[in-house]
Amino acid sequence: MTLATLRNLFHTQLASLYDQREVEAIFFTYINGKYGVERYRFSLDARQEAKSESEKGEWMGDLERLARGMPVQYVIGKADFFGMVLDVNPAVLIPRPETEELVDHIINSKFNIINSKFNILDIGTGSGAIAIALAKNIPNANLWATDISEAALETAKKNAARNNIEVKFLHHNILKDEGELLPKELDIIVSNPPYIPQCERKYLHKNVVNYEPNVALFVPDENPLVFYKAIANIAIKNLRKGGSLFFETHEKFHLELTEILAELGFKEIKLWNDISGRPRFTVGQRTF
Ligand code: SAM
Ligand code: GLN
Repeated sequence: MTLATLRNLFHTQLASLYDQREVEAIFFTYINGKYGVERYRFSLDARQEAKSESEKGEWMGDLERLARGMPVQYVIGKADFFGMVLDVNPAVLIPRPETEELVDHIINSKFNIINSKFNILDIGTGSGAIAIALAKNIPNANLWATDISEAALETAKKNAARNNIEVKFLHHNILKDEGELLPKELDIIVSNPPYIPQCERKYLHKNVVNYEPNVALFVPDENPLVFYKAIANIAIKNLRKGGSLFFETHEKFHLELTEILAELGFKEIKLWNDISGRPRFTVGQRTF
């Protein structure tokens, strides 16, 4: 069996779950992750045969998992993020392109650096994506990252080590901050916390709801900004004067979030859209 035949099988078996363009993207993510075959030179590799019966069996097993709705990144165990390859598994959210936009914005912000080290905390780090990308791209950055999930922290630690990046990982519950564990005098706090209300579950693809960690995604309908309130209160204590708090946000709740930040005394509150034009990111500065 050749890669060309496998591609046809992807199209027949995944058609009920994804449109044709998505199936193509999944197929190329799959063969790139497994064999480094690039899409632009597929015509040269299309006749590559499965090397053995067991490799063919592997292809079929993977296709079966994909047909059940498992995201291709979990099947190959990797996801691309900001020019890096990160290990992912069902204990961590697959990092999203929107989050790359947030990282890019932070890296390109003009900061008034007052310490020799630039101290950054990523709250709810998952795979470690934000923390590792910031550490890699901001000179003198000193990174801490938290999560409530021990399994996520294990994955994030491996990702940092594999990319030769130093991040101090802390097991911490955003909703039970006792003021001891997290570093103080921070220049930046950044977070992409859970923000999808339970009532929106039914609109999400089954590859998200059935496979990604619910603890990473969902918030109660009656208090969708629970994590933002708690993190803003942490930021009041742990940012230095002049430090910035960056959030990825739900497109529906950005105005409410702006009000919460303003009430707590944050200034220079700004909101901007993601590449699809949806309000997605918020920043505020602690000036007191
Ligand atoms: N930062 C990663 C990214 O952008 O790809 C993951 C973001 S994911 C939307 C939210 C993360 O918050 C998950 O890793 C989840 O385990 C963590 N989390 C959920 N509840 C938490 C809590 N109470 N305290 C700390 N972290 C929590
Ligand atoms: N943006 C992610 C999604 O659409 C959710 C991330 C989050 O809840 N913070 O699935």
